[in-house]
Amino acid sequence: MTARNGTPWTDTEGRLLRDLFASGASNAEIAARLGRSEAAIRVKASALCLTRPWKMQAPPLQWPPAPAAAPPPPSYWHSTPAPPLAARSPKPAPTERRCMTCQKPFQSDGPHNRMCGTCRHLSQPFD
Ligand SMILES: [Zn+2]
Repeated sequence: MTARNGTPWTDTEGRLLRDLFASGASNAEIAARLGRSEAAIRVKASALCLTRPWKMQAPPLQWPPAPAAAPPPPSYWHSTPAPPLAARSPKPAPTERRCMTCQKPFQSDGPHNRMCGTCRHLSQPFD
């Protein structure tokens, strides 16, 4: 609250307000200069349709634009990388198995290999 509160604006004050506004002074600065409240400055400036000088708000554009930072990985990503495929499923070592058809022992490539070479060849359809 100041002593000027409530008193009408004079033409001199109005001109000073317009000049200070045009110079880019803040409401607080103008209020201190004129001995009025900031609210009074806002109201009077609005009534006089005053606008502040346009100021650049955004940073100046860069060209080429700076590369954007890589986005964070999705939450479903594992924090540690998966082990290599070989570590998860080692290739089955060749073992001796009995052929599921002729029951003769043979060198199997793994659990998927249940038939000896002879029986597998015989089970192939004729061309
Ligand atoms: Zn066999």
